Amino acid sequence: MRATRSKLQSIASSIRPRLSDNQPTPYSWINDAIPGSSSGKLAGKTIAIKENISYHASPTSCSSALLRDYNPPYTATCVQSLLAEGAHIIGQTKMDEFGMGSQTTHLPPHYTPVHNPASPRPSEPPRSAGGSSGGSAAAVAEGSCWAALGTDTGGSVRLPASYCGVVGLKPSYGMISRRGVVAYADSLDCVGVLGRDVQTVEDVFDVVSKPDKGDMTCISSSHRTNASRILEEHLPKKGIEGLRIGLPKEITQRTAPSLLNYLKKEGAIIQEISLPSIRRALPAYYVLASAEASSNLARFGGGWYGSKNDQASEGTTESGLEKRKRIRTEGFGKEVKKRLLAGTWALSADEFNNTYLKALQLRHLLRKEYQSLFRIPHPLFLNEEKNNSNEGLDIILHPTSIRTAPRLQCYDANSQNGIKEYDQDLLTVPASLAGLPSISVPYEKGSDGWPLGISLTSQWGMEGLIFKLGKVIE
Ligand code: GLN
Repeated sequence: MRATRSKLQSIASSIRPRLSDNQPTPYSWINDAIPGSSSGKLAGKTIAIKENISYHASPTSCSSALLRDYNPPYTATCVQSLLAEGAHIIGQTKMDEFGMGSQTTHLPPHYTPVHNPASPRPSEPPRSAGGSSGGSAAAVAEGSCWAALGTDTGGSVRLPASYCGVVGLKPSYGMISRRGVVAYADSLDCVGVLGRDVQTVEDVFDVVSKPDKGDMTCISSSHRTNASRILEEHLPKKGIEGLRIGLPKEITQRTAPSLLNYLKKEGAIIQEISLPSIRRALPAYYVLASAEASSNLARFGGGWYGSKNDQASEGTTESGLEKRKRIRTEGFGKEVKKRLLAGTWALSADEFNNTYLKALQLRHLLRKEYQSLFRIPHPLFLNEEKNNSNEGLDIILHPTSIRTAPRLQCYDANSQNGIKEYDQDLLTVPASLAGLPSISVPYEKGSDGWPLGISLTSQWGMEGLIFKLGKVIE
């Protein structure tokens, strides 16, 4: 253990970050060092990490002016796992500030938005890489890294994956440790993986998905053993023969008929299903995520995170409260302020019952609807009453996003139009609220020639099942 720690420290201290201000690159800093020889399952593989995932002594600013000078004192557990298997961390990637956004455009003034590299026509004006893990998706799509870590609270790995034409996994809640990952909304936050194909994502997931005593929401090994046993029982023995796939009728299915025919030919059984609460998932998500963010981001207000603007200008006297107000006013961007106001309002005594509690009820209802559809039991609630009839589903399939990548800056946080940005998350937030594993696999092209992903969602702990179907689809 001690040897691993000193190895990690020497790797981290050898980094010479090159900051990438004012460039449309996916990276906030990049490590130019050539990967040395290494051993392990990820030997020599270059991996980028989103800049809300701590990497010892490197700028981990969450793309916020408030944390511009923050260098974390330790490395997140998931990154330690990558390093221990020989991976080379190539840099950290830009994101919407603190993970709030869907386009990687909510950035501090010294950052330039990321350009989506999946353009079918080089002459076209740049489009968004999606968000909030747009930097990670673009880095994978442009080929500057082999894989990337992102975080997904309501779709921030899957949406950019869909826009950029790469694979993006949001695992089951609690599968990957969040120790060292800056919290946005803890009951939803997951570390996710992006890669050019499903096998790459699975290889990284296998390395980072493990118990961690440093994160109390990270699942213990006994629960993982239960999940693996249940997965073994439900993996089709031959290809995808007998796999039961549901298409929610509430989502207009633009899914290519050729794909459905192909899956049927391979032996899958496809049926239309209903998930009525899916329609209310988006407002429930925004209430809960903003409420949790307003509490989580309360810790940023000077003192602890080493902001240069912690010091009052010379000759001025400032009370503690005035200082906190100044640091937060100067440090947070518009979108973050909007969320903090909305979240504080939802948690206020007058609004609590009508807003926060209602959103919790909707989340509960949605989770129950999902559970009534699956025939696979939930590995964490094995005693729960369950309809185990063979009519139940293994996987739910639908498009990842309601459209292809929009033009950069087409949604303005200051106008009514800003709300349209939230619509982009319509099809990703349901799995987040239910804590279920969901993967976006590139499949189609929109009529404009830009990529679109297909989402596969399964029972908690059944990543193996969505990997299996994902490989058949890609
Ligand atoms: N776009 C969503 C939001 O702004 C999701 C973000 C995320 O998953 N981090 O909250």
